[in-house]
Amino acid sequence: MMIIPHTHNSSSIVRVRFAPSPTGPLHLGGIRTALYNYLFAKKYGGTFLLRIEDTDRKRFVPNSESYILETLKWCQIEPDEGVGYGGDHSPYYQSQRGEIYRVYIKKLLEEGHAYYAFDTDQELHVKRKEFHDRGFTFSYNADFRMHLNNSLTMTRKQLSDQLNSCSSYVIRFKIQPGEKLKMHDIIRGNIVVHTDHLDDKILLKSDGVATYHLANTIDDHLMKITHVIRGEEWLPSMSLHLLLYRALGWIPPKFAHLPLILRNDGKGKLSKRNIESLNFPIYPLQWKDPETKNIITGYRELGYFPEAFVNMLALLGWSPGGKKEIFSLKELINFFSLEKITKSGVFFNISKANWFNKQYLKKKKEEILSYLYKKLKKRSLFYEEDYLSKVIHLTIDRVHFVHEIWKHSFYFFISPSSYEKKFFHKICDQRIIDQLEFWKISLSNINQFTSVHLRLFLFFQTKKNEKKRHQIMQLLRIALVGELKGSDLFIILEMIGKKESIRRIDNLMKKIKEKINNGNGFF
Ligand code: GLU
Repeated sequence: MMIIPHTHNSSSIVRVRFAPSPTGPLHLGGIRTALYNYLFAKKYGGTFLLRIEDTDRKRFVPNSESYILETLKWCQIEPDEGVGYGGDHSPYYQSQRGEIYRVYIKKLLEEGHAYYAFDTDQELHVKRKEFHDRGFTFSYNADFRMHLNNSLTMTRKQLSDQLNSCSSYVIRFKIQPGEKLKMHDIIRGNIVVHTDHLDDKILLKSDGVATYHLANTIDDHLMKITHVIRGEEWLPSMSLHLLLYRALGWIPPKFAHLPLILRNDGKGKLSKRNIESLNFPIYPLQWKDPETKNIITGYRELGYFPEAFVNMLALLGWSPGGKKEIFSLKELINFFSLEKITKSGVFFNISKANWFNKQYLKKKKEEILSYLYKKLKKRSLFYEEDYLSKVIHLTIDRVHFVHEIWKHSFYFFISPSSYEKKFFHKICDQRIIDQLEFWKISLSNINQFTSVHLRLFLFFQTKKNEKKRHQIMQLLRIALVGELKGSDLFIILEMIGKKESIRRIDNLMKKIKEKINNGNGFF
């Protein structure tokens, strides 16, 4: 195992954790946090751990945990330890670690780092309002705690009476004011926070459950986490966490706060709340809301390859420098470094995500072949691999996803089932039938039915009349493809062959005749 130089303890082996709360599906930011933790762990031969931070039962959403596990599996960034994987530091659910937290709460209380606060929600609400009306913000901090209903303002006797009377309380962390706390973040560098600006955060809620701050700090220490790599939204909590480590007499891990992922329409950060207004998915996998039963599609269901998704995500806030953009997971592990993560928010761009998928699609010949075989089998058709390979070669540049291939290649196998409406109406004319008849006969007389000969023939026939050439080519394209789209016309002719080309021209003529004769719609 490789030992990394910049841990607090030079002999420590990297241990990082992904610590989601089961409050719904992971979004792009969440899974990127997991990925960076994974890459960092693997780079240093360390351990990537999954801990479920489920202390806030009110925000619990069923199926979140299985969603998280499935996402990590799909992305091929599975944990080495933790929920679903076991390990020496279980339980890995915070909801099962209450006893452990109590031990440390007791220690903090005994050593004067924490205190009981009996203020009711109503009392605090009144205080906040009073302050607000006078143009101030109320904060439960060193300035005011001595005027509030807590153990700091009570005698021992009063405190034990209050506790014995079963009145409800919370336990707060006692911040010592007057200190310039120097902190270091691997991505953001040195940061100074004045402890005067911090409030006495709740560590234990009135229901006896530890808050995120307490549980997170204790677990990171007990689980021997060396690096905390998490989203920027937790940067404001870093000072409190560092003070907790100090109060508990522990050496803190290193911290790295990842930049936010921003919407590219300038409307702020990606979040689950604004999902309806986004024109791209934010979930890796499909999510079925357990309450509304609404289904929100994920990248997997839309046809993104996990490798492409992971590659795209890795570069959303990190870059090893240079022009290279396509990285296998192995390469990502090799190149990854926390120091190369950007400080500022990163814009998410769905076109770039599609571009990544396209690059991977180009290497997925087997997948595309089996997709085409399936499509053809459904129609009782069979083609040699050689032919299919040519079709793939001709189509691949037009698509980003496997499932788009058929739409762009069906005409190499079957005749069009309809014709582009507007164009078809324009060509419902006897003169067009005559033209088609001419070209049908001309084509059937060509012996070498290859794209080169066909192109030369058409150019020769239409001489310098470019307009005419263009018109004929459009007509033939409609006959063969049904739309004014698709691969090179002469290559299509060669690929499907003389007989099939003529059959399709015949079909078009028949449809035009029908339309002219009885005006009845083909559509
Ligand atoms: N439970 C927190 C979350 O869901 C994790 C914060 C952390 O990594 O410290 O974002």
